[in-house]
Amino acid sequence: MKISEADETGSMYTKLCRGCRLCMKGAKLVLFVTGACARDCFYCPLSEARKGRDDVYANERRVLSDEDVIAEAKRMRALGTGITGGEPLLKLERTLHYIRLLKAKFGDRHHIHLYTGIAPPDSILKRLRDAGLDEIRFHPPVEDWDRFRETSFFHALKRSKGLGMDAGVEIPSIRPVPQMAEAVREAGGFLNVNELEFSDTNSAALKKKGYRLRDDISNAVLGSEKTGHEIVLNNIAYTRYCSSRFKDAVQLRERLKRIARHTVRPFDEISADGTIIYGEIEGNITDALRILKGSNIPRRMYRSYGGRIETAWWLLEETGGLCAVARCSIVERYPLDNGLVVERIPLRSSGSGDSE
Ligand code: SF4
Repeated sequence: MKISEADETGSMYTKLCRGCRLCMKGAKLVLFVTGACARDCFYCPLSEARKGRDDVYANERRVLSDEDVIAEAKRMRALGTGITGGEPLLKLERTLHYIRLLKAKFGDRHHIHLYTGIAPPDSILKRLRDAGLDEIRFHPPVEDWDRFRETSFFHALKRSKGLGMDAGVEIPSIRPVPQMAEAVREAGGFLNVNELEFSDTNSAALKKKGYRLRDDISNAVLGSEKTGHEIVLNNIAYTRYCSSRFKDAVQLRERLKRIARHTVRPFDEISADGTIIYGEIEGNITDALRILKGSNIPRRMYRSYGGRIETAWWLLEETGGLCAVARCSIVERYPLDNGLVVERIPLRSSGSGDSE
């Protein structure tokens, strides 16, 4: 990529840290360790369901035990974990526990980065490093952006680097930050800038401050991308801009593909978007099963789930009589347990001419 160009999602970078590279591949588990946070950023995107609640989630799975975290990491074949919140360091022992757990289970190569809005003292940074943390991303409050060098965040950034961790600053793209960018460069860190987005919980505050939607099809804030590009172009070697389209289009799609590849059944087809496509038979499944068995279709090519059978979508029409005795549909859904159904296409019975 030429340094003066954004990629097809609007993101812009020349060099990515390991945390970002794994994120780009959809290979990072997102471990949300608490919804508690002492700050009150006007742009905070946390949902009502998570904000202020001391719950833990691994991706979208509610965590009730360590086994839930491990199972979710295995399911997506995670190569690393991003620890987030709320404020993870309000639950320091819990955060340290998960870092140790993931490193013990998946080995030192499992890359772990942490987001924090706190500038921890050296003793805590050392404990995080000793537990196995690879990278730390500081999120200073807006009031500190233009005096970053005088804040405890600058010291924590330098100290983290001194302890051998990769370290940087991550902020939403709101306005130019020349002083902070210069201080980050001086400390040998990186600066990540994310496109500002409307969410259900921040939209009133954003509107009150005069922010507007960029268009009708995204949640992105008008002008945020232009600001992000300018920050990167002025500090090209160690900054990167991450667009909301990138997060939706690339991170989510790649994460779904990883999950799909590792949970796929012999009869599922994986789409380019990472969803799975298969055939579903409902209604008279006794007769449908008899037809499948009588057609010598290998047993691995269909599965019975109580009141329905799932099979390859193309078998529905190629197996004579199936759609005449039962309701057949082609289903596309997310590759998760009971994943969201994206589309369901009922098939017309070739025998009766009826459509479902
Ligand atoms: S630090 Fe993060 S979690 Fe806390 S209020 Fe700000 S954006 Fe929300």
